[in-house]
Amino acid sequence: MVAGIVASQGQAIELRQPDEPGLGAVEARWEGHGVPFVRRGAAWVAVVGVDLDAKPGTHIAERTLRYDDGRSRDASETVTVTAKQFPTTKLTVEDRYVELSAEDAARASRETQETDAIYATLTDESYWTEPFVAPIEGAKDGRNFGHRRVFNGQPRAPHSGADLRADVGTPVYAANRGRVVLAKDLFFSGNAVFIDHGLGLYTIYLHLSKIEVTPGAIVERGQRLGLAGATGRVTGPHLHWGVRIAEARVDPFSLLKLEAAPEPTPVAARP
Ligand SMILES: [Zn+2]
Repeated sequence: MVAGIVASQGQAIELRQPDEPGLGAVEARWEGHGVPFVRRGAAWVAVVGVDLDAKPGTHIAERTLRYDDGRSRDASETVTVTAKQFPTTKLTVEDRYVELSAEDAARASRETQETDAIYATLTDESYWTEPFVAPIEGAKDGRNFGHRRVFNGQPRAPHSGADLRADVGTPVYAANRGRVVLAKDLFFSGNAVFIDHGLGLYTIYLHLSKIEVTPGAIVERGQRLGLAGATGRVTGPHLHWGVRIAEARVDPFSLLKLEAAPEPTPVAARP
């Protein structure tokens, strides 16, 4: 095994495998998930994520190379996860989003099950081939990714996406080609759109004032999904943009940086 990738908590990473004659399929195993590689030009590529709460230290990304003649070969590379400092943010929202009524609690719990089931589904094909783009025109970064949050004095789950500045009515665009798998009002998220890009990668767009797509539709990169707003548990208008990769919560802007990824590092064969 060689010194492989160094990545911080909450970062999307690209695994690469040079193509070779007779290589028919490559599959990665990362943090308990199997993720297929796809051929992109002269290399095979898989996108995985380091969850924002991943343990700092050495993790192993394993892969199996399958050849057309039936042979297979295992290899692995190390991913050194570095800790990131996530600040704590104190927020004040309407009381009903912190002290939930029995009805709202039941609804929120049902919706969490529904969205967790989406994230746990791995569609075995890639709907996208081009680089990901930000969902708001000109957005270069977002705020609050990974922040530990205290709502009205009560600790809640860390912030799993990035918040982009957007007034009510600002157009929100698909970060890449994919299939709409959810488009409706959720208790905490307000008007929400979830896109399945395939291979376990999802982008989500929350707190919209208007949804303009329907579940099942294929959307193109840059296609309008709706308008930014301030629905659900918010302190004001903005776009919450989230990315999940095989259930890992990653900073969406780290996905945009993958295009600048260095050349593949050699991967050691396992005896
Ligand atoms: Zn947010």
